[in-house]
Amino acid sequence: MTTLLLTHPACLEHDTGFGHPERADRLRAIDDALSGGTFKGLKREEAPRAELGQIERLHPQAYVKMVHAEIPERDHNWLDPDTVVSPGSWEAALRAAGAIIQAVDQVAAGAVDNAFCAVRPPGHHAEPSHAMGFCLFNNVALGALHARAAHGAKRVAVVDFDVHHGNGTQAAFWTDKDLFYGSTHQMPLFPGTGALSETGVGNIFNAPLAPGDGSEEFRAGFEDRILPALHAFAPDFLLVSAGFDAHLKDPLAQIRLLEPDFAWVTEKLLEAAAKHTGGKLVSSLEGGYDLDALAASTAVHVQVLMSAT
Ligand SMILES: [Zn+2]
Repeated sequence: MTTLLLTHPACLEHDTGFGHPERADRLRAIDDALSGGTFKGLKREEAPRAELGQIERLHPQAYVKMVHAEIPERDHNWLDPDTVVSPGSWEAALRAAGAIIQAVDQVAAGAVDNAFCAVRPPGHHAEPSHAMGFCLFNNVALGALHARAAHGAKRVAVVDFDVHHGNGTQAAFWTDKDLFYGSTHQMPLFPGTGALSETGVGNIFNAPLAPGDGSEEFRAGFEDRILPALHAFAPDFLLVSAGFDAHLKDPLAQIRLLEPDFAWVTEKLLEAAAKHTGGKLVSSLEGGYDLDALAASTAVHVQVLMSAT
């Protein structure tokens, strides 16, 4: 029994151009950090492509076709002021979504205990019919729908500790009481959603943080709001939107977390998984834009995942 690490070289070929924070070097930094002896026990696999039918469980076919049509033959094409595609973006997006789906398959089958997907483009800002915030397809929401469609999971939870609110995941889950979304994030900050009052059908739990907040407020958000709600929901599958941009050194936000905070939240989520899902947990990379902080934070996250196996 072990932790699965999924990635694919195609995720490096999603080229966002000079100066864009969501860049291929992020995955290179993570790959470096996970190459040491500590991580010898990981089961490593290349992500398959997601099938269009799997993507269309969430994203309407017209939207999927639009994304495909917007992929340029050379250079870049901007879908909005933040979200850019290059010739390699289609393949990268299929592999990113495919990683989560493969991880769900392997964890659900008991072939591994848990999994981390080191992929890009990220996903949690992608709404069913709307690319935004560096995201094309909502990888983690697709994983949740796959757990349900392919593995009979009845109640699926996504917990998101990226510093930005996962408006796309919230939108995807908004009216479905068997899907749970819990998020800590800075407010005010892009994308502007994530207020406490946004509760869906009683299945959405937002715990906004103020600029300058750190470990104490982050942990309180989990202890007071997200974890009690998660335990009450009692999921039979747990997915994690693992963004590391709430780190003190991150250039895109003003939250002051350090590596031990990411270790702590990972432990809490594993505890919830152990209690409710038989340990079934799939985590996927979202943000994190300071390369050193991203690499170190991802390393502690994956180390804690491995310690549960
Ligand atoms: Zn983010």
